[in-house]
Order: sequence, then structure tokens, then C-alpha cells
Amino acid sequence: MTSRKLDSFQTPCPSCGRPVSASRTTCDHCGAALLQELPEPLVLPEPPKPYPIPLERPGCLTAYATLLALGGVSMILGAIDAWLHPLLYRYSDTIIDDLVLCGIPPVSAIINFLVAYGLWNTRNWGRILAIAYCSLGIVVTLVGWIIGIIRSGQWYGFGAGVVSTFIVAGLIINIAIVVWLIQNKQYFD
Ligand SMILES: [Zn+2]
Repeated sequence: MTSRKLDSFQTPCPSCGRPVSASRTTCDHCGAALLQELPEPLVLPEPPKPYPIPLERPGCLTAYATLLALGGVSMILGAIDAWLHPLLYRYSDTIIDDLVLCGIPPVSAIINFLVAYGLWNTRNWGRILAIAYCSLGIVVTLVGWIIGIIRSGQWYGFGAGVVSTFIVAGLIINIAIVVWLIQNKQYFD
């Protein structure tokens, strides 16, 4: 029995073992049907999705969360002081001013702590809450300003000098914070 070399276009017949042209569908020697075995389609496993690397909390966010928490503490202390010394703080006899004096600081303090917690942990609800809170602050400041203008007839509304400067600065900072929080969603879950 002579062994025949297989050239590159030949394949051994699975039935008789003799070389057959790879293009044939039946063996030239024994007539066996040659199944053209197609390779299984290669299914590549899905490449693993890149795990989103959590971004580190930026320093400005840490600073802002800290300031909010400190602001909450100072509001609580201020409210306690106002309750202990009502006459010192009573600048008006109207009940509305008293409610504002005694009611808003504790509520604001709680919101401050909540927003600070949410931002510190880069939670998206914290971001949304902070945007809402700052926007509310902006609206309240602007409304207060307009009321001040109407009451005083002066453009600065809150009184000249330091107070107005602080309020305008606070307004600008609040607007900057809202813009930053809207543009930097990627830091939050
Ligand atoms: Zn054969």
C-alpha cells in the first residue's frame, strides 16, 4: 500500500482513508459521501463591560458639603440662642417674624444636613436636592431683595454696604453652585 501525500487541497476520506480533493462531495475511491464539515461558528464571549470607575468626590463638593453642615450647626445654635433670649432677637412684634425666626432656622438646618449628607456621599438625590435648595435660596433672596427695594425705595434693598455685598455674593455663589451641580452629574451615582 502506497502512502500518498496529501496536498493542501486534499483531505483523507473518513471512510477509506485515501486522499480526496477537498472540493469533492463524494469520495473518488469508495463513493462515500463526504460531509463538508463546517467549523462551528466561532462565538466570542461578550467582552466584559468596563466597570464604571467611581469618580472621586471633587474637593469643591467636599468643601460645600462641609460648609452646609457647619451652616446647619450654626443655624441650630442660633435658633437655640433665639429661644433662650427672645427679647434680644425680637426686632418686630409681628407673629410672622417670630415664626420666621423660630421656624425657618431649624428646618433649614435639617435640610442643610440632608443635602450635606447627600453631596458628601455623591448621591444623585443629594445633587437634585442641592439644586432645588440653592434655587429656592436664589428665589427667596431675589424676592427679599425686591421687597426691600419696595420698602426702602433704594436699589440695594437690604441696606447699604456689607449686608448687601454679602447677599449679592451669596446670590452669585448659589448660582455658581447650581450651574456646577447641573454640569457635573458624572460625580454622582
Ligand atoms: Zn473513500
